[in-house]
Amino acid sequence: MDKPGIVVTGASGRMGQMLVRSVLESDQARLVGAIERPESPWIGQDLGQAMGGAALGITVTDDAVAAIAQAQAVIDFTAPAATVAFAELAAQARAVHVIGTTGLTAADLDKIAAAARHAPIIRAGNMSLGVNLLVGLTRKVAAALGEDWDIEVVEAHHNRKVDAPSGTALMLGEAAANGRGHSLDDLRTPAREGITGARAPGTIGFSAIRGGDIVGEHDVIFATAGERVILRHMATDRAIFARGALRAALWGQDKGPGEYDMADVLGL
Ligand code: NAP
Repeated sequence: MDKPGIVVTGASGRMGQMLVRSVLESDQARLVGAIERPESPWIGQDLGQAMGGAALGITVTDDAVAAIAQAQAVIDFTAPAATVAFAELAAQARAVHVIGTTGLTAADLDKIAAAARHAPIIRAGNMSLGVNLLVGLTRKVAAALGEDWDIEVVEAHHNRKVDAPSGTALMLGEAAANGRGHSLDDLRTPAREGITGARAPGTIGFSAIRGGDIVGEHDVIFATAGERVILRHMATDRAIFARGALRAALWGQDKGPGEYDMADVLGL
């Protein structure tokens, strides 16, 4: 079988450029397109030259329909409104859509679910192997410890991140809630400020730190009287997310329509 053709959306972004490099380095996939928004200065430029290197023969385009039509997979780390639009286009082209974008609303997720009726969609707030292992561990520890253990998720990211808590923090919170037989919506505490009152038992709290070039750090803290257990993941290189996303795009090639996550891809 031919190597699957991959289109990267948001190709000029931090993750977009990382994804382009990962696909180019892979001997299992071909890069067939790079999409940016119409206002981007990269439109019409050769992708390799726009990235400061040698020409690649791929022109950055804002014509998502034409680019996606020739792809077997779309890897998309952009923004919620763009991702919803790309989900529809990928579904029409029957291409695998790998979504790393975070900050999606319930309405966005409904539209993505509708698109997944036509083609596979693999979505994860964090595509790294380590974080997906941490999700499994969090579920187990939450199930093992009673409600007298308070659960707090603390995350830190670079100063350009626009959403909080991070998608990964929410994945971890959901795993903790599931371990206790609930959904996160039942247990989530709103961000704290001012006179918040005492902590309600059984709830799950979130804190976000933003600064510098922090790639991504997540602690799940289980605290009770006299002791604490802390599960921690630290990402030091964005390449882990790009490699995970490419692995997902390849994994999805023989899958039917539906919604999948990294636990499916990694067989966890
Ligand atoms: P970024 O540097 O701002 O990149 C986003 C890119 O998408 C930008 O180039 C942006 O263009 C482009 N874009 C926005 N709307 C578009 C549209 N309609 N059409 C085409 N391109 C469009 O951000 P980032 O750090 O790469 O992160 C992107 C997303 O991935 C965020 O949601 C982030 O939280 C998430 N993320 C997920 C993971 C994971 O493992 N799941 C890991 C890291 C990051 P402009 O600059 O012109 O707006």
